[in-house]
Amino acid sequence: MNNSGIKGKVVAITGASSGIGEAIARYLAKEGAKVILGARRTEKLEQIVKGIQNAGGEAAFTSLDVTQPDDAKKFVQFARDTFGDLDVMVNNAGLMPLSYINAYKIDEWHRMIDVNIKGVLHGIAAALPVFEAKNSGQFVNITSVGDRWVGPTSVVYSATKFAVRAISDGLRQEVGRNIRVTLVAPGATESELAETISDPSLKKQAVEQFRLDLLPAEAIARAVAFAVSQPDDVDVNELVVRPTAQKNI
Ligand code: NDP
Repeated sequence: MNNSGIKGKVVAITGASSGIGEAIARYLAKEGAKVILGARRTEKLEQIVKGIQNAGGEAAFTSLDVTQPDDAKKFVQFARDTFGDLDVMVNNAGLMPLSYINAYKIDEWHRMIDVNIKGVLHGIAAALPVFEAKNSGQFVNITSVGDRWVGPTSVVYSATKFAVRAISDGLRQEVGRNIRVTLVAPGATESELAETISDPSLKKQAVEQFRLDLLPAEAIARAVAFAVSQPDDVDVNELVVRPTAQKNI
């Protein structure tokens, strides 16, 4: 059966407690998906899920730390227990503590590698067996325009996103003919992401220079919805979505 559209699909979203993940959950639920939200701040997830349910949508949440492979497995199991299946795994959780290499913020490098790279791999390891067993399913990995661009202060962040782009392209080639892999690369988008920058002057610079013309997070949600809504035999491999005014990064 060629199952196009969003309605009825079970979609699990990591990092759904704010920003882009929250917008994806709200938008896909409005389009009729059954959404499962995961993140560490469960009080935020609870509020978002209530909002979706009050608007007539179907949603549930559970605590998730993507750095823990067992958590990722439990997240997928929660989706299957709650809504009976899993159709789409959105690996969105991420952080961006920009810094110069010679600031030696080694803990922050590790944190980005743990969440931005290992977190995506854990999501893949949790969902792929489900997709392989039913011979269908879709990964949507949220990278960044930093998956193809690197500049001062974004060295480690971009490295993690380059890695996720490589992982997505390789995964697409390895998985069976009926499993889809989509990469969505946002430009500057409204969210709490700049809050993860610990250096106050870099945070100020990021907010004042790079985060002037922000996309609403729903713009990224619409890109995800476009990819998810295609017929099963159409795999939108990559979407890069920038604010029109963002030209050089
Ligand atoms: P936010 O900071 O608003 O959201 C990040 C989300 O990741 C939160 O829900 C946070 O939830 C979650 N998260 C962080 N660590 C973990 C963890 N260990 N386990 C589970 N969830 C975690 O930023 P965005 O919405 O902007 O970020 C979403 C994705 O979009 C990221 O991958 C980011 O790199 C990417 N992106 C964003 C851009 C932008 O300009 N906003 C541009 C390009 C890419 P909690 O703290 O509750 O766990």
